[in-house]
Amino acid sequence: MFPNKFPDWHPESLTAHSGVGHDPVYGAISTPVYQTVTYQHPGSELGAYDYSRTENPTRHAAQEAINRLEKGAGTLLYTSGMAAITVLVQTLEQGDHVLVTEDAYGGTYRIMVDVFSKFGISSNMVNTRDLNQVAEHLGPKTRLVIVETPSNPLLRISPLRELADLVHAHNAELAVDNTFMTAIRQRPLELGADYAVYSATKYLAGHNDVMACAIVCKTEDQYQRLNDFTNATGSALGPWDAWLLLRGLKTLAIRMDRQESNARTIARFLSEHDSVRTVYYPELAEDSARTLHMGQALGYGAMLSFLLKEPDRYIALMDRLKIILPAVSLGGVESLITHPYNETHREIPEPMRRHLGIIPGLMRLSVGIEHIDDLLNDLSDALRG
Ligand SMILES: *Cc1c(COP(=O)(O)O)cnc(C)c1O
Repeated sequence: MFPNKFPDWHPESLTAHSGVGHDPVYGAISTPVYQTVTYQHPGSELGAYDYSRTENPTRHAAQEAINRLEKGAGTLLYTSGMAAITVLVQTLEQGDHVLVTEDAYGGTYRIMVDVFSKFGISSNMVNTRDLNQVAEHLGPKTRLVIVETPSNPLLRISPLRELADLVHAHNAELAVDNTFMTAIRQRPLELGADYAVYSATKYLAGHNDVMACAIVCKTEDQYQRLNDFTNATGSALGPWDAWLLLRGLKTLAIRMDRQESNARTIARFLSEHDSVRTVYYPELAEDSARTLHMGQALGYGAMLSFLLKEPDRYIALMDRLKIILPAVSLGGVESLITHPYNETHREIPEPMRRHLGIIPGLMRLSVGIEHIDDLLNDLSDALRG
């Protein structure tokens, strides 16, 4: 009844067929929104589904579609990216310790420091590009290491294979927040990670209209543990949101191609612009970082940051842009610009922000699918004068 779990297709074909084959009654090509809490039992026994907190056919279809992109043991969907980080940490025990990459998403920092410390789970922020620093902080109680590469917002590259070996040698697990690259460009499980975590709100859904998150698990045991926990705590994604995610997912591969090609052109344009001091983009990174990135990824992605020579110009820049919209979030079809120092990374204490290079002149750009000439003209006009 359900499609072959891992058809031997390219990601473009897999994503286009997201959800196909999940309507056994009418063969609907678009998976129906199974807006139901409960399911009539076929007899005295339970059927395939019994209660939607536990599982729902629309959510199941979206989980399968994401899972097969990475050949995971199983995938779980949650109501937001932060819910997924929460679940991963909540399955640990009091006294356990977590390491997080120091230039992670601001919300990841906040939840470790403000929330989990109260429950007796300690954490450290480390530079995960430096294996020695990671090794120094891996203690007997360290259970989980959370890494982002390329990181947010400075697009720094951490070595995933080496990190996986190091973390496993210490009996801990490695979770990679792969929101920026998606499985179209980077497959953490193939590189040794235990979990690939996605804010599906971003590229996977891609239209700035739904919040969701995915955790793809490497082993059946990990999947069972998270699935049992999710069933007990109840933060799984609802059927409408799962349907929007499925719909967005169908075009992920072509959106990625277009967004990346726009981003590469914009990165080069900005790197030659008089008002810009530095551009942060994996393709323009120093040789060692670029080589490391391309040894573990299939492209450069569509996120970039740049540093203005005159930091105060950021207000005028954001005011003048017309196509590129000032808004937080990323990965959607519309280009968005943010000012990490005051917006996405505001939660991080000022000295730490400075240490990380998140300073007032830094801008983060999520490049969309608009025509490249319109994007270049918009930036050129807004940076003028
Ligand atoms: C947005 C984001 C998150 C948080 O996801 P939400 O869906 O907003 O809860 C986590 N990690 C990264 C890299 C993100 O960009």
